[in-house]
Amino acid sequence: MPSEFDLIARYFTRPTRSSSAVQLGVGDDCALIAPPADESLAISTDMLVEGRHFLPGADPESLGHKSLAVNLSDLAAMGARPLGFSLALALPAADEDWLASFARGLFALADQEHIELIGGDTTRGPLTICITVFGSVPNDHALRRDGALANDDIWVSGSLGDARLGLEVLTRHLKLSADDTAVALQRLHRPIPRVSLGLALRGIASAAIDISDGLTGDLGHILKRSALGATIEADLLPIGSALRSQDQKIQYEFALNGGDDYELCFCAPLSQRDRVIATAQQVGVAVTRIGQTREIPGLRVLDRAGKSLHLRSQSFDHFSTP
Ligand code: ADP
Ligand code: MG
Repeated sequence: MPSEFDLIARYFTRPTRSSSAVQLGVGDDCALIAPPADESLAISTDMLVEGRHFLPGADPESLGHKSLAVNLSDLAAMGARPLGFSLALALPAADEDWLASFARGLFALADQEHIELIGGDTTRGPLTICITVFGSVPNDHALRRDGALANDDIWVSGSLGDARLGLEVLTRHLKLSADDTAVALQRLHRPIPRVSLGLALRGIASAAIDISDGLTGDLGHILKRSALGATIEADLLPIGSALRSQDQKIQYEFALNGGDDYELCFCAPLSQRDRVIATAQQVGVAVTRIGQTREIPGLRVLDRAGKSLHLRSQSFDHFSTP
């Protein structure tokens, strides 16, 4: 039976890149990070608990990817550059096949996004993965939630709703074509953090958030912090390619309230419209303008005829949803 230290050495210790901001990585009492001069550290933590955030028996390689991806998505939403991350793991057993696959998924994304594992903690317990990411951003360029102004455009990256569709496939055995099933499950298990878009939107976007709990709920956070309302045109929503096979009500429902999309929702003044489009093109990420902020409080979603849509559910909340 390998010890905790054997496991850390075998699966979670790698040499530090000499070029990085990480001065000291795994193996000491603390890691040391030197953010660039005149920049702030951007720090965010997300926890994934078996049975709550993923189903028992979930593929460990995908879990490795997703647990880092959801954290990188927070850095993206702040316009922060990834520097390092720590990993706290509770494991029911020292399952080396599980650890090897988990580490493979984790480090594939870490290498792609140039972020290093700098430390963590390992203990026995119900399967729980807790990652803290550290990034850096110039103070006055952070994409905060409270910076939107009235009549800003509201944009989203990529497409919405396919991850929620994937969850329906797994939990309610919804039947889709093989191609749509593959797309929906990929979106659920392998979210792509929009790091390069977040960086490119520095100085352009007035506010940003990543869509983890559903567009309306997450946009609602921007509106609340910026003391604004908004109008969204349902017709403009970038519906996920698999979700387009469903009837319109489900399309709207999942795109607006689905969750797990990990796209960016951001606001920008009208005067920046061309720059937003050019910037998104440069980083190779689709962006869609879906509405505008308003001085009048409240979020209205309009259908094609200009009538308010009333949707069943609100976005996901861990304490109000059984
Ligand atoms: P301490 O008792 O000082 O907290 P630990 O014995 O918990 O130290 O960890 C030893 C070293 O291994 C520390 O540098 C810690 O950051 C690192 N570490 C522990 N678990 C992990 C993990 N899951 N991933 C990466 N590094 C880890
Ligand atoms: Mg410790």
